[in-house]
Amino acid sequence: MAVNKAAYSELNHFLSEKNTTLVAVSKTKPVSDIQGLYDLGQRDFGENYVQEITEKQPLLPQDIRWHFIGHLQTNKVKYIAPFVYMIHGIDSLKLLKEVNKQALKCNRVIPVLLQLHIAKEETKFGLDENELNEVLHHAGELKNIVIKGLMGMASFTSDEAEVRTEFKYLNSIYNKINAHLTTHYLPLTTLSMGMSGDYKMAIEEGSNMVRIGSLLFGARS
Ligand SMILES: *Cc1c(COP(=O)(O)O)cnc(C)c1O
Repeated sequence: MAVNKAAYSELNHFLSEKNTTLVAVSKTKPVSDIQGLYDLGQRDFGENYVQEITEKQPLLPQDIRWHFIGHLQTNKVKYIAPFVYMIHGIDSLKLLKEVNKQALKCNRVIPVLLQLHIAKEETKFGLDENELNEVLHHAGELKNIVIKGLMGMASFTSDEAEVRTEFKYLNSIYNKINAHLTTHYLPLTTLSMGMSGDYKMAIEEGSNMVRIGSLLFGARS
């Protein structure tokens, strides 16, 4: 299945009016699909698996901004640290410290998003509010990461009211952090929420970065 050009241009038009960044989620899709979207002007791509992103990255243009959006294991950070543009799924202080360590080895400062657990499903990853505060408390000591914002995944449900409540909750925490900033932190600028099925609602509730896969590349097998 090739890239859906019509969907891409319509989406781009919609998102540019909303000042929202599109991360094209290319997991499980071949490099030819990524190249196809790149040729239309897309530069931000998201991947979920370390092995997959490290295999694809050398085969594609070097100005692609690779977002790691999946669950990241501490022992695999070293493989993506040299090139990753942003890591969305920071869900523990231990993981953040490892990103900092590997970034230092690469002489880089890696932008990250802290993932909050906003869904009802226990299976989804992410920090709760107390853990978030603990991470923020220690982040000032870590010189090779910069916390750019928050990320969350809503429940997989057809209950739109539930999804909206979860997005509102994440946005409220984002605003709360920015309202209580100390001089140690930069303001958060990125709120990554919304996927193919719920991005419009996510933007209504404050998102400025959406992660969209199936709408652009077709369903994953
Ligand atoms: C797969 C994935 C997406 C994209 O999902 P679509 O429904 O295909 O748009 C977005 N975010 C995360 C974290 C994902 O794993």
